[in-house]
Amino acid sequence: PVKQRLLVVANRLPVSAVRRGEDSWSLDISAGGLVSALLGVRDVDAKWIGWAGVNVPDEVGQRALTKALAEKRCIPVFLDEEIVHQYYNGYCNNILWPLFHYLGLPQEDRLATTRSFQSQFDAYKRANQMFADVVNEHYEEGDVVWCHDYHLMFLPKCLKDFNGKMKVGWFLHTPFPSSEIHRTLPSRSELLKSVLAADLVGFHTYDYARHFVSACTRILGLEGTPEGVEDQGKLTRVAAFPIGIDSDRFKRALELPAVKVHINELTQRFAGRKVMLGVDRLDMIKGIPQKILAFEKFLEENPEWRDKVVLLQIAVPTRTDVPEYQKLTSQVHEIVGRINGRFGTLTAVPIHHLDRSLDFHALCALYAVTDVALVTSLRDGMNLVSYEFVACQGAKKGVLILSEFAGAAQSLGAGALLVNPWNVTEVAKSIAYALNMPSDEREKRHRHNYAHVTTHTAQDWAETFVSELNDTVVEAQLRT
Ligand code: UDP
Repeated sequence: PVKQRLLVVANRLPVSAVRRGEDSWSLDISAGGLVSALLGVRDVDAKWIGWAGVNVPDEVGQRALTKALAEKRCIPVFLDEEIVHQYYNGYCNNILWPLFHYLGLPQEDRLATTRSFQSQFDAYKRANQMFADVVNEHYEEGDVVWCHDYHLMFLPKCLKDFNGKMKVGWFLHTPFPSSEIHRTLPSRSELLKSVLAADLVGFHTYDYARHFVSACTRILGLEGTPEGVEDQGKLTRVAAFPIGIDSDRFKRALELPAVKVHINELTQRFAGRKVMLGVDRLDMIKGIPQKILAFEKFLEENPEWRDKVVLLQIAVPTRTDVPEYQKLTSQVHEIVGRINGRFGTLTAVPIHHLDRSLDFHALCALYAVTDVALVTSLRDGMNLVSYEFVACQGAKKGVLILSEFAGAAQSLGAGALLVNPWNVTEVAKSIAYALNMPSDEREKRHRHNYAHVTTHTAQDWAETFVSELNDTVVEAQLRT
């Protein structure tokens, strides 16, 4: 049978491209969650459409890159520097990202932001139309078009305006905030309406879906139903599709000799101490200062643990050119320095803080040797780190302390210790509880999480979304 074609549209293609000459490029495929999710979907033939992350002003370069990407089943959208600045750095990262994570609209430079708001939103719409143009150019009848994330909220409308019969789905990878938060956004209505042009709208959790439906009923005055949102007889289906990971990829990695060597080294290095782990992009939403302050409180209150536990915090640099992120980095450094100064000895410090990323194998080894993972996101769409940790704990069966404000709390809540990351006292207590947890409770909790992570995979997620999208379109045709 002919496979159904799937066009996956996301801001960034899953490749990094480096220009080697006038007409030559070297490409590196990133093996992230979304890529392996879609590779694993049966019966579809997937292609990616997105920005390659580089500015290519000349036609020779564009043609060469297009050709090189085609071999990787990728189709580029070319965005110039000005539009990237306004659409990506501006509207996406400075407006939508903080708002959707409950950090509100930018306050510091209030007047400047308010004034540039409209031009950034115009650039956002223009950029979305550029994505749409590429989709339209490659679209064939029967294709499924799956739009991803807050970068492309305007895309469903652009696509449907071009061809009303196109099967269009949109999925949000971040939280969708309470309608009271969304209400503050100057372009609140236009964004909701353009998302509603899609046939199917998906979120990680039921709560995010509910917030979206409330925003549509309260702000647009439309009717919310258990199925979704209705506008003059036209239904946009809204539902929760919690993402997963490719857990086998992690389990396989742990069997590799190089990873085993790494695990042994780490085990020896931290012999006699319990290992606690944090892995986060250094973003305000991850609650890293809150996490470290809770760890300090734990050390304060539990002197017997001071030389028996170590916190390894991997803080992956992100948006390092933005002043707010620079401020966060120095704030974290200051707290870590203070705590290490306070509780360190000549031979050991309680916190190892790394401003860098790790490669996949080093990360797997670290997950495997960890006794307690600490995820304290203030808001997080899902949080895949918590899933990856669980997948690597088949042998150790360690404890996951997880923020109730991460989407993952909905799925791993039965096995994890859920905490409010703002409550430093509570998190400190949970650390003590986790470190002292009897093995039968630990194993029972781990079993819950492990069963979930290994059965709700990224492949299942993608398959479910695509088949639901196909069904939704069929049902809509039956209704008319
Ligand atoms: N990650 C990585 N290298 C690192 C640290 C993390 O590749 O050094 C990956 C990690 O494996 C996970 C992703 O980054 O897949 C983080 O995803 P998550 O959903 O936890 O948070 P996000 O960064 O998307 O907000």
